[in-house]
Amino acid sequence: MLKFATDAADSPKSIRVRFAPSPTGDLHVGGVRTALFNYLFARHTGGKFLLRIEDTDKERSTPAAIQVILDGLAWLGVTPDEPVVYQSARIERHKEAAYQILKSGLGYRCFCNPEELTAKREAARSIGKPFKYDRTCLKLKPAEIEGKLAAGTPWAVRVRVPDEDLTFEDGVHSEVRILGEDLEDFVLLRGDGTPTYMLAVVVDDADMGITHIIRGDEHLLNTPKQILIYKAMGCPVPRFAHVPLILGTDKKKLSKRHGATSITWYKEQGYLPETMLNFLGLLGWSPGDDRNVISRDELIELFDVSGIIPHGAVFDEQKLRWLNGQYISKTDFQSVRKSLLTYAEQAAADGRLERLPDEAYLEQVWNLIRSRIYFLSDLFYSALYLFQDPTSYDEKGMRKHFQKEGIADRLKTLSGDFESISRWTAVSIEETIRRRAEEWGASASELIHPLRLAVSGVTVGPGLFELLEVLGKEAVVKRIFIAVERIKQ
Ligand code: GLU
Repeated sequence: MLKFATDAADSPKSIRVRFAPSPTGDLHVGGVRTALFNYLFARHTGGKFLLRIEDTDKERSTPAAIQVILDGLAWLGVTPDEPVVYQSARIERHKEAAYQILKSGLGYRCFCNPEELTAKREAARSIGKPFKYDRTCLKLKPAEIEGKLAAGTPWAVRVRVPDEDLTFEDGVHSEVRILGEDLEDFVLLRGDGTPTYMLAVVVDDADMGITHIIRGDEHLLNTPKQILIYKAMGCPVPRFAHVPLILGTDKKKLSKRHGATSITWYKEQGYLPETMLNFLGLLGWSPGDDRNVISRDELIELFDVSGIIPHGAVFDEQKLRWLNGQYISKTDFQSVRKSLLTYAEQAAADGRLERLPDEAYLEQVWNLIRSRIYFLSDLFYSALYLFQDPTSYDEKGMRKHFQKEGIADRLKTLSGDFESISRWTAVSIEETIRRRAEEWGASASELIHPLRLAVSGVTVGPGLFELLEVLGKEAVVKRIFIAVERIKQ
């Protein structure tokens, strides 16, 4: 099989790739993966990664929908090396290319009424037959063409496709073939003067000097037709690699049915950009081993189109969540400080958080909890007790740890011990607890569990001694007092 990037003809420096999304209002994770593969390929080969917004659908291409794409890519640091190209600004150029193909004799004018053609197409489909344009207008005599032009009949430009099969070598799928019988003379420019996707994409890629096209499988069968257009324009044909679909756990195409598909949602949910980059980078691509964790630099170093897996990859949300936990546990406070403060403000505005934490305290909390959470926002949901007294206690925990004979007195005694600790550290706290446990002939865990429940309201969390240290002596003593009152009730 042809090697995608490193044929003798390629000087790596001249490699130019692009991501060409159509704004829809959402940036699908599949699109992000396509962008990422192109970006990695460019970085790996020393080439350029470009972005072209295919904004010819006026209704969908609102400034907001375009911004979603730009923001999503910027968040991941997958940003273009040259100014963004907007397809809508290039319509005159697309038309010019269509006229050029017409002039060269490889295209022809089609005066057929598009509504009638659509009706014929539908009729054929309804009886399960393929419809192929019957080349009515290819057979027109020059005088007939003149007559129609003089009468002002609108015309489209079609490209004359050869009768044989079309093939090309794909970087992922090897040889791809469309049978000649399945090809029809397709439209480049519509009767209303608007270019089709097929034309615009080729003209833009040619003008942008794109050498390699990595994109979704849905464009696989468009490719032979696009290659015809390159040839008709006399332009070099890029290499193509088509990336298989992303699937849900039921092995069907990933869609909203399976859960969220938009990158913005993952961002808002508290996934880190490093997580998404790692996860999407290994979704349908493998460096040849079964690692789950990989950095941006490693992706760049190892990325090669030959590692793209030629069948659909399953989007495993459990794994994504786990991975986010891995990254969170390695992230230092400064990198998440701003986001945490935003989450805190949100929690305060929602009434969950009584007051905004001070930064030095937040940093301590972060270091204590980061290896135990999956999302930044968890801090202000499941770990609110780090900022304020618990308002309730886990039911099962209460039955297990608060109903033991004498527990209220033990907690009270411990609280008194705590008050007299002069250096409030995890070590001194641990010593105090263990000393009492020994004296009472109890195991340390018989004290640790009720203490945890008393100060946090829950039965799981960070190491108790470290937790108490971070909470501070005053809060701990107060919380034990509240819990003891509760136990006595
Ligand atoms: N705008 C097209 C899409 O979003 C992509 C075109 C291409 O990559 O060739 O599907």
